[in-house]
Amino acid sequence: MAKQLDYHTIREIFTRFHASEPEPKGELDHVNAYTLVVAVALSAQATDIGVNRATHELFKIADTPQKMLALGEEALIEHIKTIGLYRNKAKNVMKLSQILVEEYGGEVPCSRAALESLPGVGRKTANVVLNMWWHYPAQAVDTHIFRFGNRSGVCPGKDVVAVERAIEDNIPVDFQQHAHHWMILHGRYTCVARKPKCGACLIRDLCQFEEKTL
Ligand code: SF4
Repeated sequence: MAKQLDYHTIREIFTRFHASEPEPKGELDHVNAYTLVVAVALSAQATDIGVNRATHELFKIADTPQKMLALGEEALIEHIKTIGLYRNKAKNVMKLSQILVEEYGGEVPCSRAALESLPGVGRKTANVVLNMWWHYPAQAVDTHIFRFGNRSGVCPGKDVVAVERAIEDNIPVDFQQHAHHWMILHGRYTCVARKPKCGACLIRDLCQFEEKTL
């Protein structure tokens, strides 16, 4: 784990991320808050591309909890059976749709506690929804952010909660909103797991990783 970088270095890192991509976007397809919740819940241990392939047709016919309940669990399974853990995920999608209809008038709530109370929605999913849909500066830490944060020193931590705290405590407030997507995209495409592309990395002079591939 690298040492925590200082404020000015982190500001320079995010200034460069901002210059290279001013409006970074998530890669999970969705058409409203409900389909975002479903897409993120389906994405556990699956790639965004795989989830998008499965939801492409599904969201045309089931883009609200009411329509999902009308579709039914077996038909949902037919759409998502290419995704890992699809049976369990289908059960959770049906249960969370039922709760949204019965307790929230079919709307997705905008509080972390309410989101986390839904079946199949953990802290990470709740933070993604709060960040992407409600534009809260919520920080969902996935495997890419965890790896990048610990290598670079931007937000080191021994577990995801520690990394989440490091992001909140150290990333300048004006970069907090987009920090999630900048770090995910950087981890997914440049600071990759096996052989990071340090030679092509726009922050290689600031990164603390001792085993850079230059
Ligand atoms: S220099 Fe290498 S290790 Fe550091 S952030 Fe860039 S790709 Fe990752």
